[in-house]
Formats: sequence, C-alpha cells, structure tokens
Amino acid sequence: MRVETKLVHAGELQPRPERAVSMPIYQSSTYEYAGASDYHDVQYIRLNNTPNHAVLHAKLAALEGTEQALVAGSGMAAISSTLLSLVAAGDHVLAHDGLYGGTFDLLTKDLPRLGVTCTFVDAGRPETWAAQVTPRTRAFYVETMTNPLVQVVALDQVAQFARERGLVSIIDNTLATPINYRPVEHGFDLIVHSATKYLNGHNDIVAGVVAGRAGLVAGVKHKLDHLGGALDPHACFLLQRGLKTLAVRVRYQNQSALELANYLARHPRVAQVNYAGLERHPSHARAKQWFAGMGGLMSFELADGAAAAERLFQRLEIPICAPSLGGTETLITRPVTTSHAGLAPEVRRRQGITDGLVRLSIGLESTQDLIEDFGAALS
Ligand code: PLP
Repeated sequence: MRVETKLVHAGELQPRPERAVSMPIYQSSTYEYAGASDYHDVQYIRLNNTPNHAVLHAKLAALEGTEQALVAGSGMAAISSTLLSLVAAGDHVLAHDGLYGGTFDLLTKDLPRLGVTCTFVDAGRPETWAAQVTPRTRAFYVETMTNPLVQVVALDQVAQFARERGLVSIIDNTLATPINYRPVEHGFDLIVHSATKYLNGHNDIVAGVVAGRAGLVAGVKHKLDHLGGALDPHACFLLQRGLKTLAVRVRYQNQSALELANYLARHPRVAQVNYAGLERHPSHARAKQWFAGMGGLMSFELADGAAAAERLFQRLEIPICAPSLGGTETLITRPVTTSHAGLAPEVRRRQGITDGLVRLSIGLESTQDLIEDFGAALS
C-alpha cells in the first residue's frame, strides 16, 4: 500500500466494530481482565493500550515504516519519556543547537537535576562531533528542520555517527512529517512527533508520537506508563481522523508555502525569508536531496523590524496571531513572544532568533487569498 492508502486503512480494526466505517470512541478507562501477566499489558487508558490507542499505534508504525509506534499525551510527553527511557544519572546526550524551546529547557533545566548532562553541537558540521562524545554519551538528538529558521542539519551523518558509536539517534520529525521525510529510511533509531501539529492538523488537540524498533519503543512505553502521559480516547479519535487527510494537507501546504515564500522574498518591505524551498536558503541543497516537500512553515523579517511586524499582525485579516503550527488555520507569531520566550536573550541571539523574526505556519486557506492579504497588509 502507498502512503495515502495506509493513512486511511492501516491499523483499522477488522472486523469493524458493529460494522462502523469510522472507528468509535471507546470511552472506558478500564477493561475486563483478559489474562495479562504484565502490569504494562493490563488494559487501562493510562497504559495507552485501549482499542483507540491500538489502531493509532498500528497506523503510525505503518506510516513511519517502523516496527512499533506509541502515542502520548503531548509532544513533550513523547520527548521527555523517550529521553528518560535512555538515560540514567551520569549519562550524557548530544543535541543540535537550535532545538524547540521546550526540548531545550528539558535538556538544560530538568535533566541536569537528575544528573544527566547535554552538549549542544552544530549538527551541520560533523567534523566537530567526535570531540564531544564521552564514554557516557547515550543519545544524539536532532530535529528534521529547525523551528523557526527551518535549517536542515547533516541528518544522514547524524544517524551514521550514532550507529558507529552505539548511540541511539533520535529525531523530532514534527515539521517534516512522514509525507516529506521518513527518518527510518535514513537510519534513525527513534522518531518523535508533536502530533499536535501536522499529524492531527486541525489545531484542536495536543498529542505526541514515538516510533522505532520494538525494544526501544517498549522502553519508552514503560517510562510513559509511570509518568502518566496518556492520550485520552477522544483525542485518539481526533488524531486518527486527522491522520487520514495528512498527505493531502501536507502536499497542499508544501505548495502554498512555496508560493507565499517566493512572494514574500520579492516584496520590498521584507528583508529576509527563511524557507528551505528557496534556492538561496543555506539548507536548500540538503532539503532538496532528502525531502519530498519543504513543509508549511517559514519565518521572515521585515525591513522595519519588530514594531513593523506587530503592525503587520494587526492588518492581516486571514492569519491568526497565535503560537503552534501545522493546522488548518494559518498562524503567525513572533517566536520571541511565544515559542522561544523562555530562552535567555543570548541563547536566542546565538540561534539567530531576532526580536523582529516572524514565524508563519501556512494553513489550508486559498494561497491566492493569503498572498492578497499579505500584499494589502504590507502596503
Ligand atoms: N517539537 C516541536 C518541533 C514543536 O514545535 C513542539 C511544539 O511546538 C513540540 C515538539 C512540543 O509539542 P507539544 O506542544 O505537543 O507538547
């Protein structure tokens, strides 16, 4: 089956419950005992193993091409459980400088309190990595595209480097989605997602995903079971419904974002556009080599900086000024005030996140309407 068919049919229960074409919501916290001998197999919502979870796990594994997948109560629940399943006090993690703010905070504020340290490397420069590995390094963590500058690091080399040194390679594939990039085909061990974004795609739930080899995913499940980061059945239902249209949505967003990025790049009031689909973007060559599409997220700077950006937000009629990304509504935000507000100013500066930087997540509105709206607001 090709990906569009898998999105609709993979993992669906056979026979269909009561012959329902759409998977029902099993709103039951607990299930009649069926002989499970392991605590993690007892059917209970917190253990992420009700029928609504099982269907999603099978569909997501088929989609990413992994042995197993697991849903979680949020992207951060997936990320924190994944990291905690791999490290113990004294261990060390390598990570890419420029990660999503929540993950950066976890690695720099929470894990050190448990005795786990992290070194941030320039994941675009493989020659610098070996010097940072210690005998206690356990994992190498990167994102497929960085948020909001949409840079693409040396992904293939990360997976190979980790494999050669016995580290677990982990990639946050939220921005690319398996429609644009499937990390397992490039040698990554574990894939995490904020399913809040494109996988669900409708700005109406928070959810997370972990996918990979069965043994690794089982370790994450045990951690998640104890930390309590379950996804409730109604959110499972919405995620399952959202996934069915993933390919259609992402391809439309790829195309729409490319057209809008080209429009903004030519506009005299726009100083800079960061979108890997533009030839002048520093990651264009890598993105073209590996990705089927460049995604629906971009960032840009206006010639007149942050104050002009705020005026633009007031004049735009279609984009909603809000954090998050990957849904049906086009969302616009200044990362300094939202997703990256928690980072120290010097960290933001090092990562290239200026006060005037604007992040734009393209939704499913008409591309032409968006271009006209930006044209009117900018002028
Ligand atoms: N990873 C990336 C790339 C994100 O952008 C986000 C949220 O913005 C997360 C992880 C965290 O996901 P969630 O908000 O679902 O916990």
